[in-house]
Amino acid sequence: MTPGGGAYEGIIESLSGNYDFAPESVELRVSPRRKASTLTGANCGVTSNTSVHELLECPVCMGVMYPPIHQCPNGHTLCSKCQLKVQRCPICRHELGNIRCLALEKVAESLELPCRNQILGCQDILPYHRRLRHEQICRFRPYNCPYAGAECPVSGDIPFLVAHLKSDHKVDMHDGSTFNHRYVKSNAQDVENATWMLTVFNCYGHQFCLHFEAFSIGMAPVYMAFIRFMGDDHDAKKFSYSLEVGGNGRKMTWQGVPRSIRDSHSNVRDSMDGLIIQRNMALFFSGGNKQELKLKVAGRIWKELS
Ligand SMILES: [Zn+2]
Ligand SMILES: [Zn+2]
Ligand SMILES: [Zn+2]
Ligand SMILES: [Zn+2]
Repeated sequence: MTPGGGAYEGIIESLSGNYDFAPESVELRVSPRRKASTLTGANCGVTSNTSVHELLECPVCMGVMYPPIHQCPNGHTLCSKCQLKVQRCPICRHELGNIRCLALEKVAESLELPCRNQILGCQDILPYHRRLRHEQICRFRPYNCPYAGAECPVSGDIPFLVAHLKSDHKVDMHDGSTFNHRYVKSNAQDVENATWMLTVFNCYGHQFCLHFEAFSIGMAPVYMAFIRFMGDDHDAKKFSYSLEVGGNGRKMTWQGVPRSIRDSHSNVRDSMDGLIIQRNMALFFSGGNKQELKLKVAGRIWKELS
């Protein structure tokens, strides 16, 4: 695990910012097992419309063109994103101008296409406008990497992200629903170089991220621990967790509901939805000389009876 000093600001807030207009060919990170079973289906659904799809392929970025679709005076089409980037028609080199191709826009709007998350398991086939709306809330849409310390652009389904956390972020993985963690920092004053850690727990057939970190609220350093669920909000709510930190005759307990990793790490942190340990208390818990920070966090995750 690498310390991520001061990188909190860089966390990607949400998918929606660049999601609507991402080219069709965007690479989805899918666990190998899933890829094998659904790829064939993806191809079948599209075959009957192949020629229309070719018509709607932007010659510059190769993505599917959605309205507004532009064309050169000779009728060569290109997508609105690429139109902003090039001065001349990529086919005939004619000056582009600002000409829309309304006929093709109508074709694009009338097409029913599979949800872009088909490869991740979505079966829905929808007309253009509804499809864009659906894709933003599609429950199969990829998750962002839950690793918080650095800007990580990786997204994918849960099995892929679990493998990614393990191999690329060297995150500790634990089996079981109870845990006992120690966080030790030799210089308790040092919040600038924020300590934060991520541990993944594997229980009830799901994965849970335990985040522990230090940050400042105004001038006051604060420690925080919380759990996020690797899956949708709907499933996250089926679980509860408790965290307990103590030592030196004092104890604090937090009980909460894990937040889905659909909620960005910074969102959860800013809403303070977790165990918050003020610095004075953290030093009490650590005992000793007030120099070294030694926190013992015990926790448990359980499934609520529905
Ligand atoms: Zn394009
Ligand atoms: Zn042209
Ligand atoms: Zn979908
Ligand atoms: Zn990552």
